[in-house]
Amino acid sequence: MDIPRIFNITESAHRIHNPITPEKLAILGAALRVASGASVLDLGSGSGEMLCTWARDHGVVGVGVDMSRLFTEQAKRRAEELGVANQVKFIHANAAGYVSDEKVSVAACVGATWIAGGVAGTIELLARSLRPGGIILIGEPYWRQLPPTEDIAKGCQAHSISDFLMLPELLASFGHLGYDVVEMVLADQDGWDRYEAAKWFTMRRWLEANPDDDFAKEVRAQLTSEPERYAAYTREYVGWGVFALMPRC
Ligand code: SAH
Repeated sequence: MDIPRIFNITESAHRIHNPITPEKLAILGAALRVASGASVLDLGSGSGEMLCTWARDHGVVGVGVDMSRLFTEQAKRRAEELGVANQVKFIHANAAGYVSDEKVSVAACVGATWIAGGVAGTIELLARSLRPGGIILIGEPYWRQLPPTEDIAKGCQAHSISDFLMLPELLASFGHLGYDVVEMVLADQDGWDRYEAAKWFTMRRWLEANPDDDFAKEVRAQLTSEPERYAAYTREYVGWGVFALMPRC
């Protein structure tokens, strides 16, 4: 069981697999005012940077679940490196349907809401692990600018314009699901560059090291086309943020 190999190649050197930067991840951790010892569940935890740094900086404990074997290994190594291996645990598994045994203070899915069929399904899934008064975190794209055509949406690697909402509509949609938005940290274009441009260097190095690999053709094609595609579409049209939600009282 693993994610498609292309991601394990292009994002093998990423600590954060999203356009949020280490600085903004720290801002988010502080914004949530979590107490030392608070528990966090992270579905699609990637290389574990959020859990590991929050464990170090705020004393949280928690569990991350991710389907990438490579990212999960990296997360475990990061926990050792930051001296928090006794606070956080990383599980290599499909997070679809994952509910924690004990209810948590923060239940997160940052940039992997397809695991439960989209934002609404993921909020429902996370809510099953959440203790009363807890916070749900959702990381999700939105349109910075509405694409004028479906082709432009496809250039952004969306299936269609209807895949994402504009920011005000996305915020309103959380309300329609019965949640207050209590905090948010938004990515910016520099953050997008850190996520996307970092892949290019990784691809280039991978190609040099693996010229005869079955995947070399695909990686070469991506490295050739991605900078221009990204600059024309994703960088201009796609916003991204982490939204903190609490059930309306
Ligand atoms: N939250 C992390 C990773 C986001 S990228 C961060 O911000 O860095 C999306 C992650 O979802 C990847 O790590 C990928 O391996 C993971 N993933 C994809 N499908 C999954 C599934 N069904 N179950 C668990 N993890 C999944």
